[in-house]
Amino acid sequence: MFIEPRVGNGNHANRRGWVEVICGSMFSGKTEELIRRLNRATIAKQKVEIFKPAIDKRYHDIDVVSHNANAIRSTPIDFAQDMLLLGGSCDVVGIDEAQFFDNGLAEVCVKLANSGVRVIAAGLDMDYLGKPFGPMPDLMAVAEYVTKVHAICVQCGDIATYSFRNALSEQQVLLGETESYEARCRHCFLEGRKALR
Ligand SMILES: [Zn+2]
Repeated sequence: MFIEPRVGNGNHANRRGWVEVICGSMFSGKTEELIRRLNRATIAKQKVEIFKPAIDKRYHDIDVVSHNANAIRSTPIDFAQDMLLLGGSCDVVGIDEAQFFDNGLAEVCVKLANSGVRVIAAGLDMDYLGKPFGPMPDLMAVAEYVTKVHAICVQCGDIATYSFRNALSEQQVLLGETESYEARCRHCFLEGRKALR
């Protein structure tokens, strides 16, 4: 479990920012971990704001919703840049589904952290092909803390790091279809990809 260097962030005049990334496959508990950290910040009376890409319309418009329905309110935005205006006065900025943001995300997170904001971003590190997903590699590079959470392979019970998709569509963004995804270990992911060909 991730232990924060500190939760409270001093007074506004001398607060210090940093960047945390929570990454992993689908069903790995990324959003649950994001919510856990944000709840702790809220208890510490931090001003918290949560953003998600407007593209993610799976559930409700203003809730960050994880698969176990443990929801907190969030603001859907179109561009990473929008966070500078909306999140600049916060102590903590949470970001869900970070992989769907544009490539400006890392730079925006750095700017927020430089101005004293604690940034916590959760997202898929790999797409269904096992390739690094969108702005995540850059974001992980500039983060102080990177936590990779693991799912369990539904085929063999091993630790899973891949999001295997049981469909032939080549579209990277396929939302609202969690039923066609499985968390898989490297071995079972490769076996599954072979079988799809
Ligand atoms: Zn497996």
